[in-house]
Amino acid sequence: MLAPHAADEFNPWKNAAIRFENAAAKLNLDDGMRKILKTPSKELTVAIPIILDDGRVEVFTGYRVQHSIARGPAKGGIRYAPDVSLDEMRALASWMTWKCAVVNLPYGGAKGGVICDPAILSQIELERITRRYTAEILDIIGPEKDIPAPDMNTNEQTMAWIMDTYSMHKRETTTGVVTGKPLNLGGSLGRPEATGRGCLFVTREALKKFEIPPSRATVVIQGFGNVGGMAARLMAKQGIKVVCIIETDGAVYNANGLDIEALMKHRRETGSILDFSESQNLSSDEALRLQCDVLLPAAKENVITSENAASLNCKIVCEGANGPTTAPADHILAERGIFVVPDILANAGGVTVSYFEWVQDRQGYFWNEKLVNERLEEIMVNSFYDVLKYACEHNVENRTAAYMLALDRVAFAIKLRGLYA
Ligand code: NAD
Repeated sequence: MLAPHAADEFNPWKNAAIRFENAAAKLNLDDGMRKILKTPSKELTVAIPIILDDGRVEVFTGYRVQHSIARGPAKGGIRYAPDVSLDEMRALASWMTWKCAVVNLPYGGAKGGVICDPAILSQIELERITRRYTAEILDIIGPEKDIPAPDMNTNEQTMAWIMDTYSMHKRETTTGVVTGKPLNLGGSLGRPEATGRGCLFVTREALKKFEIPPSRATVVIQGFGNVGGMAARLMAKQGIKVVCIIETDGAVYNANGLDIEALMKHRRETGSILDFSESQNLSSDEALRLQCDVLLPAAKENVITSENAASLNCKIVCEGANGPTTAPADHILAERGIFVVPDILANAGGVTVSYFEWVQDRQGYFWNEKLVNERLEEIMVNSFYDVLKYACEHNVENRTAAYMLALDRVAFAIKLRGLYA
């Protein structure tokens, strides 16, 4: 396995490149194919001038990176954050390509973002940023070209603004241009729960490998937001003991399992998960080291690193977040025999139901929630075993297997299409 330079450990694009090269080498991909697969197909940087509420003009920077369109239109979220960078967009766009290929969706990968701090912007300012950003990237997005979705600090309201701006320019209502929309604007039932639900399905299958029945399983979850909160709620409903939740200000622990609904209510009322009745406060570091069957990082990237990977006490890491494990930490987890369900598989439930939303928009016919969840389960479980089969056949760990499966599928599409020159 290739090892990164220590200084690069936290650069997501460098981490993505290491995983890519490892898988490409195992697949014996030729140099030309490697060059195509690792080079983003399109990178757009745009200036977003808007008038702030106090009358001043500010110019924000936005990006949209399309990594690949070999298997279908590009697909990927849009995030608003002060530390958005082009390298981060490239990494996240390539992960979307591999993620869509692992679960066999007819999509390529993309990611977009705007460098801004939503915490200090009003709703009106966010709407202006969103509409101008949409207008600037309008030529490269569309239901057959590139379909954005929510990501960090964007939500269904942001998607409604993008859909409206796009539709105004096109002179027709085009719901299929984005996913993650509000339900009454072409959104799908089951979409808000989809990523957490997908994590539940793959965790359940991973527990079977260890012959741990759900009723005896213990889980520690980092992040109590869309992915982590929903995974916690769904796991608790299945009788799995969620023993610890870690948030930005610390963690709460109960060896017998936390009452997740009550913890959600407690956070709504107090603004924090800490000091929850019948639980003990812990520091985040202590919590990450707790003995448990499953650790589910569902907050942010670069959480399991070369510094702390040796001190984890779990059997399974299920990566709800994108890029929670750095490349150097991969080696440590592999040496310790920790079973990793890699991000490009574990959190693919979100993009899978986004795909269902796009299909429903194009059909103009909407499915009930039972059908959405059943189809999600089928795709997640089948993909889990596809990756395990690859790992077994090629004698590699799960992450490399997932990348190999994805690269193989994308490379095959490129070969079939041929090079247009
Ligand atoms: P979110 O903002 O809803 O929730 C993230 C939660 O993590 C928040 O409650 C936040 O307070 C907490 N958090 C942030 N930093 C933390 C830290 N250092 N320690 C502990 N908690 C921390 O975001 P989300 O949509 O749940 O996304 C979480 C991760 O999952 C991201 O990496 C995202 O890219 C990935 N992801 C999300 C989806 C989706 O459908 N939402 C799909 C695929 C991947």
